[in-house]
Amino acid sequence: MQGIKGKTVLITGASSGIGEATARLLAKKGARVVLGARRTERLKAISEAIRREGGEAEFRALDVTSLEEMEAFAKFTLKSNGRIDVIVNNAGVMPLSQLEEVKVDEWNRMIDVNIRGVLHGIAATLPIMKRQGSGQIINLSSIGGHHVHPTAAVYSATKFAVIAISEGLRLENDKIRVTVISPGVTESELADSISAESARKAMKQFRRVAISSDAVGRAIAYAIEQPDDVDVSEIIVRPTTSP
Ligand code: NDP
Repeated sequence: MQGIKGKTVLITGASSGIGEATARLLAKKGARVVLGARRTERLKAISEAIRREGGEAEFRALDVTSLEEMEAFAKFTLKSNGRIDVIVNNAGVMPLSQLEEVKVDEWNRMIDVNIRGVLHGIAATLPIMKRQGSGQIINLSSIGGHHVHPTAAVYSATKFAVIAISEGLRLENDKIRVTVISPGVTESELADSISAESARKAMKQFRRVAISSDAVGRAIAYAIEQPDDVDVSEIIVRPTTSP
């Protein structure tokens, strides 16, 4: 199947920001979207809004740090749609801080959601896509997956990891398309999880030039709508005024 129309697309972290914008856009373009995140009230409201506008959307509670939940998410999709064409491993957290603040719980949370969550998404869908003989795995990295800034050492490490995992996956498969989306500063709720005062202040400055989550959604749509023999390996999308 080529293009977006009729494709079944799983989106993790679809309850806000980039995941929500992507779900709305892809549904508008005719995809059947399956939304996962922990805040199910939001997923319900977003899915209902999509359906009111004529789109096809389902949702299911999902904590990406649990492989069992991710497998259940994939099974739920297979049962209702019969196939999985695309997964967007988008769920992520970014509690920035300086290493000397030793916020070990926050480091672990970033590793669990941003790295293990992506691996769980791959584990739950790759065997299905291999059986189908086609599929696309889209992983959210970041500009932080290319450059490290003070307070972002662990966050960047997780996003460097996403690029490494994606490149390995791409090299190992010639029927599965693999795409990394690396946004610069984007309007969303991502910075809300920052507990460190210095990092929160720095982030406020950064966010003045943020692009919309829709802009990142459009990059994801572009990667999906290319023909099957075209793999968009990475898109960096950032504010024009970024250095
Ligand atoms: P948001 O905070 O708005 O969205 C993050 C999403 O991840 C939410 O839907 C949240 O849902 C979900 N999430 C968090 N933890 C879990 C979990 N354990 N299980 C399932 N879902 C989870 O931020 P963005 O939209 O900005 O972030 C989306 C992705 O884009 C992230 O990977 C982020 O790193 C990346 N990114 C964002 C940039 C930005 O400037 N905004 C720049 C570069 C990359 P819930 O809490 O309901 O579970």
